[in-house]
Parts: sequence; C-alpha cells; structure tokens
Amino acid sequence: MDFHLTEEQEAIREEVRRFAENEIAPVASEYDEEEKYPHDIMQKAAKMGLTGAHFPVEYGGVGYSSLENALVTEELFAVDPGIGLCITSAGFGAEAIINFGTEDQKERFLPPIVEGESVMGAAISEPQAGSDVTSVRTQAEKDGDEWVLNGNKMWITNGTVGDYFVVMCQTDPDADDRYSGFSQIVVESDRDGFSADKITGKMGIRASDTAELILDDVRVPEENLIGTEGMGFLQLMQFFDETRTAVAAQGVGIAKGACERALEYAKEREQFGRSISDFQAIQHKLAEMHTATEAARQLTYKSAWSVDNDEGQLTALASMAKEFASDVATDVADEAVQIHGGAGFVNDHDVERLYRDSKITQIYEGTTEIQKTIIARELLGKGF
Ligand SMILES: Cc1cc2nc3c(=O)[nH]c(=O)nc-3n(C[C@H](O)[C@H](O)[C@H](O)COP(=O)(O)OP(=O)(O)OC[C@H]3O[C@@H](n4cnc5c(N)ncnc54)[C@H](O)[C@@H]3O)c2cc1C
Repeated sequence: MDFHLTEEQEAIREEVRRFAENEIAPVASEYDEEEKYPHDIMQKAAKMGLTGAHFPVEYGGVGYSSLENALVTEELFAVDPGIGLCITSAGFGAEAIINFGTEDQKERFLPPIVEGESVMGAAISEPQAGSDVTSVRTQAEKDGDEWVLNGNKMWITNGTVGDYFVVMCQTDPDADDRYSGFSQIVVESDRDGFSADKITGKMGIRASDTAELILDDVRVPEENLIGTEGMGFLQLMQFFDETRTAVAAQGVGIAKGACERALEYAKEREQFGRSISDFQAIQHKLAEMHTATEAARQLTYKSAWSVDNDEGQLTALASMAKEFASDVATDVADEAVQIHGGAGFVNDHDVERLYRDSKITQIYEGTTEIQKTIIARELLGKGF
C-alpha cells in the first residue's frame, strides 16, 4: 500500500493550481456575481488539456486516470467551484461515450471537447424525475433510420452553451420491469426542435450554465444511440460510479480552499490584543476542518483508484465518497465563514462564495439521502 502521489501527479496538482490562481482567482467573483459563463477561460483551460483531461489519448485527451482527474478537480475547486465546474464538466456525459460508444461516436464527440471547440452535457433529470430516474418521461421513438425525441429536461449543466447532450430517454414504455426500456441518445443542440432556457438565480456555482431543455420532435440519426437499446439505466449506473467520485473530489477541493483561507485569516486577525489563532476554540475548529478534509480526500482517492482498478466495490465506495466529502465541504465552508466573523458574511472574502457553492455537492449526481440508500443496499445485497 502506497499513499504517495507520483512526481508526475504532484506536478499535475501544482500546474493546475498555478493556472487556477493566475487565470481564475482574479475574476472568480465577477463571473459569480454576473452569472456569466467563462468562455475565455475555457479556451485557456482547453490549451492546457483540462477540458478532456481524462479522455483517452487516441481521442485527443491527456489520458489522466480517475485519481489524476480528482487532483485536477480538487485544485480547480479549491480556487473557485463555479469556474472549476465549467472546466471539469465541459465533457460531462462523455463517460457514457467512452464506456459504451462506437468508434464513430468517440471520433465525432470526444476530440472537439478537448480542443475547446465544443461543450457537452448529460441530460437525465426532468421536472418530475429527480432522484427517481425511472420516472423519466422523455420519449424517443424510432421512425425509419431516425430517433424522434419529445420531452423536457431540467437542471441541465451546460444547457445553453452545450453543443450536444447524452439524453436519457424512454425507448420502450411497455418494458417488463421499471429499469428496462431506457436508452441514452446523443442530441445535438443545433437540431430543429431543440431549445434551452437558462436558469438564473442559483445559490452557488453561478458561473456554471444550468438550463431547462425542451425537445420538440427532435430528429437524430439512429447512429446517435449509445450502447444498447433498453440498457440505458444500467449504463447510467456505471456512469454515476465515475461521476460521483468526481463530485467527491469537488467537495474535497471546496473543503481544501475553505481550510486554506480560514487558516490564513485566523493568523492575520487580532482580537483582545492577540491573534484569534491563539484561542483554543479557533485552533480546534482548524484542527477539525483539516482532519475532516483529509479523511474525505483519502476516501475520494480510494474511490478514484477503484474506478481505475475495477476493484469491485466501486458503487458503494463512490456513494460513500460523495456523501462524506459533500458533507465535509458544507461543514468546513460553514466553519471557514465562522472564523471570518462578519467579514465572512460578505463577498469581499472567498469563503462566502465557497459556502454557497458547497451546497450543490449534496444535491447533484444524486442527493445525500440517495447515496445513503445506495450504500445500505450494497451492504444488504439488495441491488437497485
Ligand atoms: C445546479 C444544478 C445542476 C444540475 N445538473 C444536472 C445535469 O447536468 N444533468 C442532470 O440530469 N441533472 C442535473 N441536476 C439535477 C440533480 O441531479 C437533481 O436536482 C437531483 O438528482 C435531485 O433531484 P430533485 O431536485 O428532483 O429532488 P427530489 O428527487 O425531488 O428530492 C427532494 C428531496 O427528497 C429526497 N428524496 C427523494 N427520494 C428519496 C428517497 N427515495 N429516500 C429518501 N429521500 C428521498 C431527496 O434526497 C431530497 O432531499 C442539477 C441540479 C442542479 C441544482
């Protein structure tokens, strides 16, 4: 057992952090306040290979492992979760194509993400289908050699800036059981009948684009079906094992950023004629925040390692990592605000933004409650 990162992995961490400090930190609060998607920074991130870092090398990616991808995510989110999410989600949904796509799909959809020419998304949620994915109603019907899609997708990351989406849809409403009958189909945003409405007023990750998608008789070629017709639900579960590990890394990054800022402020701020870091109450907060962050990091790295090594316990580990790291992110960001006192309550200090941004990690990619249900089902051997 070796807990050390390789020299190359340490270099990735440092390089990404430098990029985030130089390019993102100076403008993070501006993009947050204006709820603006950072097109310019996306181009710079693409030049560094960050928009498809974990894509296989043969499709233009850097070929980073899940662990290396977690390091990238951690450093970006430690500086700014909003812009960090834009960069790490530029290829959201690509895991389905990498794992189940045809050669043609990989060649069509993966390289443009790496090159910064396109952005993609994964459209699963609907107004009535959140935690219960099996209540997805978007329909795809076969008409000759095309699929015709109708339905509404809700809360879709990259919704108005994305060029294509992996859409979870019903292809067999009469399927025998509630898990069959779903498929994943790629829908390009320039198809007739596709429209997207931006959702504004989010609590956090405000630089990230979120939208409702409307699919009104959208026609795509049959070659846009990913994997096997009717196996969309099972394919999606594998997708979540990977993406939940990535959300855990987001939580670790937010906690890390909050710890760093709280430590710095505690050393600087004086009350009662001494540094507030002299007070045991503050020292204990710092100790607990750093301990929780390190525990979340180790669980997240183990989950990432399991993605890379096909370890067999991945579903439970990914849910444990996501559930634990997202709670740590919100708790640690909360304490970081507390250590800043009144200064933490206004947007002059990054901790105010980190506090707001942390909350989403407990919600998307399956809520905390759903992660606990998955862990318990895995323990009890009950499957879905
Ligand atoms: C900013 C943002 C970005 C997002 N990006 C995407 C995206 O790119 N693609 C996408 O498809 N979706 C996306 N989502 C949607 C996200 O995945 C859902 O919001 C999430 O899965 C929860 O679904 P819901 O909001 O419908 O809540 P609901 O499912 O209605 O849940 C409401 C509450 O009930 C609880 N609950 C529900 N069922 C159970 C149960 N069986 N046991 C115990 N508690 C339960 C939940 O935990 C929660 O506390 C995004 C959401 C947001 C806010």
